[in-house]
Amino acid sequence: MHIDLTGKRALITGASSGLGAAMAQAFAAAGARVALNHLAAREQAGTLVETIVGCGGEAFAVDSDVSDAAAVQAMFNRIDGAWGGLDILVNNAGIEGARAPAWDGDPAEWMRVIEVNLKGAYLCARQALRRMTAQRSGVILNISSVHERIAWSGYSAYAASKAGLSMLSQTLAQEAAPFAVRVLCIAPGAIRTPINEHVWTDPQQRADLLDKIPLRRIGEPQDIAGIAVVLASDVASYMTATSVFVDGGMTAYPDFAHGG
Ligand code: BGC
Repeated sequence: MHIDLTGKRALITGASSGLGAAMAQAFAAAGARVALNHLAAREQAGTLVETIVGCGGEAFAVDSDVSDAAAVQAMFNRIDGAWGGLDILVNNAGIEGARAPAWDGDPAEWMRVIEVNLKGAYLCARQALRRMTAQRSGVILNISSVHERIAWSGYSAYAASKAGLSMLSQTLAQEAAPFAVRVLCIAPGAIRTPINEHVWTDPQQRADLLDKIPLRRIGEPQDIAGIAVVLASDVASYMTATSVFVDGGMTAYPDFAHGG
């Protein structure tokens, strides 16, 4: 089995930290050229570009808000200018929003989560699919979450956005399949990134989290990045329209290991 993305043109959104940064490095290590989208994280994205280029890879950073259609258009224009098209899109940019029961939360904050996580993925996929369907090849990976399936009190916008992302992916996959373009979701569980740092750095919250994971460990960004490379490669050429859960078994509801 040979996993090789040599020369593939990949855009990863939210690539300045966490899963996005790990995926950018993994794609570059597999030979892909990577565009690192970020939002006002110039320094972090710049450092990552330097690291990738220092290892012999090809990368550039692009600062744009994925929820803004004009900014997304400008980002794709830049990619067209640099590479003349795109082979891999990873819709990774996402936010959780502040934790609050729906009746206490701020509607504007609620919408912001939907705008970034769901509308952002749609806007980027829309641009990518125009190019991919025309060239009759390409892969889109949408980074959802176990919360595309598991309800999460206090995070109704986040959970709704991820469930929406799952159905968006399946529908786009159906639309794009006749053009040999694949669309998949990766649904991570609890992965050690800045988004949940407040949980894994707090002993009590960390213990509670581990109780929710049958494999009894918090995932590492590389656990997701490796799978992303495989799914973007031809090894996964018969996979589309589905979600791949990478969650240490979280979706097996470990509380059901006893009782019930
Ligand atoms: C969230 C994390 C959380 C995990 C499991 C992810 O989608 O971003 O904060 O730890 O789901 O609940």
